[in-house]
Amino acid sequence: GASCGIVGLPNVGKSTLFNAITQAGAESANYPFCTIDPNVGIVEVPDERLEKLTQIVVPNKVVPTAFEFVDIAGLVKGASRGEGLGNQFLGHIREVDAIAHVVRCFEDENITHVAGRVDPLSDIETINLELIFADLDSVDRRIDRIARKVKSGDKESKQELDVLEKLKAAFEEGQSARSVELDDEERKWIRDLHLLTIKPMLYVCNVAEDGINDADTNPHVQTVREHAASEGAEVVVISAKVEAEIAELEGEDKEMFLEELGLTESGLDRLIRAAYKLLGLVTYFTAGVQEVRAWTIRQGTKAPGAAGVIHTDFERGFIRAEVIAYEHLVDAGSVAVARERGKYRLEGKEYVVADGDVMHFRFNV
Ligand code: GDP
Repeated sequence: GASCGIVGLPNVGKSTLFNAITQAGAESANYPFCTIDPNVGIVEVPDERLEKLTQIVVPNKVVPTAFEFVDIAGLVKGASRGEGLGNQFLGHIREVDAIAHVVRCFEDENITHVAGRVDPLSDIETINLELIFADLDSVDRRIDRIARKVKSGDKESKQELDVLEKLKAAFEEGQSARSVELDDEERKWIRDLHLLTIKPMLYVCNVAEDGINDADTNPHVQTVREHAASEGAEVVVISAKVEAEIAELEGEDKEMFLEELGLTESGLDRLIRAAYKLLGLVTYFTAGVQEVRAWTIRQGTKAPGAAGVIHTDFERGFIRAEVIAYEHLVDAGSVAVARERGKYRLEGKEYVVADGDVMHFRFNV
């Protein structure tokens, strides 16, 4: 499955946020393929389309799709030089698909800031530089390893070297790999390096409990937004403390509390949706009377691969997929009417599944 790592300096609110995530917790029995690990929190992806489908199909059970947040605590200045538990943490970041970078935007004199004052830009730079140093190290090692082959005139090694040097130059300027324009061919050369700064990233501004409704007047949030815009990154504003409180509530209590706060949804739900998008994921549905369920695939996945998310047998024995786009099904109000309107399609192996497709797979066993 896909995962998003939570990073940030100490005392910015990562644990508070991560506790809210595990508290809000998905029913893990529904997600047997997810990791069981204290540092991994499974979150259900809120999707209002599930409610509409439930009204149409009236199933016994509804299962949202899910993905994992990984708590990567302990990233400190000097991590790339092995300070703190440096390398270990960088290793954990290597394993996630995207990064949510928590930035402290709340003032509280009782809570020490590692750098002595709340300064989002400096925090962002500190974390980003550690990641860049680690990547620079990976690239340098690789350059050393292929040096002899390059010297001997090996063409492919020379191509690889060109990419590595392009990245190295960026790292030395304090730029992340994300900011370097690379074509598919160039990306292929560096895939095995599992660079940290090539992973998509979003910023999470952690604001004070009483600051969620006027976040736009918070100068720290403004600073983060401007910085993020310059990198083309997303920003999600939350109050980790408030999220921890929301996560303890369910159903009507939760709705009432959100209403009191003047919110239509929790910050955690906003973060989950932003992270899902950042991971490049889309959702398709299966809708039977037993179960209406959302499934996650990577954008661009073809029908057999999508079937394989449900079961490997579905992929191996794939014959065809029956597909109705979500909008068409909702407009029609039933599968039968959608069929009459010609909105029911048969698709083969090459079909690229679209977000919102309601699918039924035919397969050989
Ligand atoms: P971590 O080191 O990044 O995991 O940070 P923690 O989640 O442990 O938070 C550090 C301290 O800041 C704890 O005492 C939290 O209760 C506090 N904290 C976290 N978020 C907020 C917030 O939004 N407002 C205030 N006042 N304190 C917060």
